[in-house]
Amino acid sequence: MIQIQNYIDGALVPAVNGRTLDNYEPATGAVYSTLPRSNADDVAVALASAKRAFPQWKALGPEDRSKYLQKIADGIEARLEEFARAETVDNGKPLWLSRSVDIPRAVQNMSFFASAIRNFSSEAHPTTDNILNYTLRQPIGIVGCISPWNLPLYLFTWKIAPALASGNCVIAKPSELTPMTAFLFSQVCIEVGLPAGVLAIIHGLGAEIGSAIVDHSDISAISFTGGTTTGATIARNAAPVFKKLSLELGGKNATIIFDDCDFEDTLKTTVRSSFANQGEICLCGSRIYVQRGIYERFKNEFVERVKKLQPADPLIETSKQGALVSKEHLEKVLSYIQLAKDEGGTILCGGNQVFPEGRCANGWFVQPTVIEGLPYDCRTNQEEIFGPVVTIQPFDSEDEVVQYANSTKYGLATSVWTSNLTTAHRVAANLHIGIVWINCWLVRDLRTPFGGVKQSGVGREGGFEALRFFTEPKNVCISLQPGGSH
Ligand code: NDP
Repeated sequence: MIQIQNYIDGALVPAVNGRTLDNYEPATGAVYSTLPRSNADDVAVALASAKRAFPQWKALGPEDRSKYLQKIADGIEARLEEFARAETVDNGKPLWLSRSVDIPRAVQNMSFFASAIRNFSSEAHPTTDNILNYTLRQPIGIVGCISPWNLPLYLFTWKIAPALASGNCVIAKPSELTPMTAFLFSQVCIEVGLPAGVLAIIHGLGAEIGSAIVDHSDISAISFTGGTTTGATIARNAAPVFKKLSLELGGKNATIIFDDCDFEDTLKTTVRSSFANQGEICLCGSRIYVQRGIYERFKNEFVERVKKLQPADPLIETSKQGALVSKEHLEKVLSYIQLAKDEGGTILCGGNQVFPEGRCANGWFVQPTVIEGLPYDCRTNQEEIFGPVVTIQPFDSEDEVVQYANSTKYGLATSVWTSNLTTAHRVAANLHIGIVWINCWLVRDLRTPFGGVKQSGVGREGGFEALRFFTEPKNVCISLQPGGSH
């Protein structure tokens, strides 16, 4: 049995209290490793080490910090297959997905910010009366990064890379449900000689170690990705001590398909945008609105293709759908399918738990599910399900579909399908949302601002936005007038 350990002060260690938690393989429902059940005592040890490390890490400067990040990127890449397999076993997602998306993107996150920090600059404001103002961007100090289970290493590195590149020391907590690749990541940090204390990776429960990080007065900023309810708890706890916060939260994304779309391209991508990673991506579209003229044809062909996405052992190369991350999450998803039925929805395909033969017979699999016949404002269409469940509904006018799309408390992402560029621009402008994809989905340029509005989050990640979050701007004002005061 693998024993995952914390990474504190440059070494792999158990929790101070010696306690552990079981870690399950979603595809089999069996325990396959353990992780430390850490608490505030572990944060105290990590903080003492981070305080020792911070002055030197800050002084190292962007060029040398960049080299460490690049070495970590190379270290992950050299073990890509091992990381990919570990991610799949830990999370339940298909191996080909871990290999082609999750781990390569983690590598890219590290090397992107290794490069971005070398290109980061700040403003100067010369004035005509011999005054120069410039902005000095300095690291915040010790920051906390808390990430979820759906894209474990991908989202973990998306936070810690800019935090470290900016010169902060980081105390990070991966999701307790998917700790394995963060553990492998700590091995890489040791291999490349990352100075002790610069990064701590502490495992355990959100309510214990997560809140210990959020509550600690010496941790000055928190970057969090996860559910909206957890985000609200963090915001409540951080507000009285005025911590800087970046919150990437839940979503209930719409897919808007106009009559004049490229039918085949739209169909193919909508299958992916609905069910990639078992629908467990915050950017997946879970409400599909199709204009009346092509509704029946689109619906029928969509359902035919979805029926082919049968869940299977995620380690099999041909597996299209893996397992859901936990038994608790499986039950949540099934409860929403029941809710959809109670609200009058018709299940067009899927709707049930699946028990594949062989080693995955006790795994947590759900058939990709398409539901029709629900109004836009029912609970199924308003609440985040975060699984392989979508609703499909016709619309007539542009105004009507924009109203549907904007009707939830979330505002993360929408994809719009049309060959009319004027429609595309107008709809994009009228959506109350952080990200709009036109005729594509999940196309990511890491320089762009990433995040949502309303209850999907506060702040933006990505590119220089992330580097700005992890630095404090200090205005320096100089009089250039010899001996003069103003
Ligand atoms: P959670 O909010 O349950 O957990 C996220 C992280 O926060 C985990 O590491 C969790 O630990 C930790 N945590 C839980 N409670 C606390 C607390 N009180 N204080 C501090 N940390 C805490 O989210 P999930 O892991 O279930 O992730 C799914 C959610 O993430 C979905 O809502 C999804 O939409 C959202 N998400 C948003 C994205 C975005 O960019 N906007 C991207 C990806 C996902 P533990 O696991 O141990 O409980």
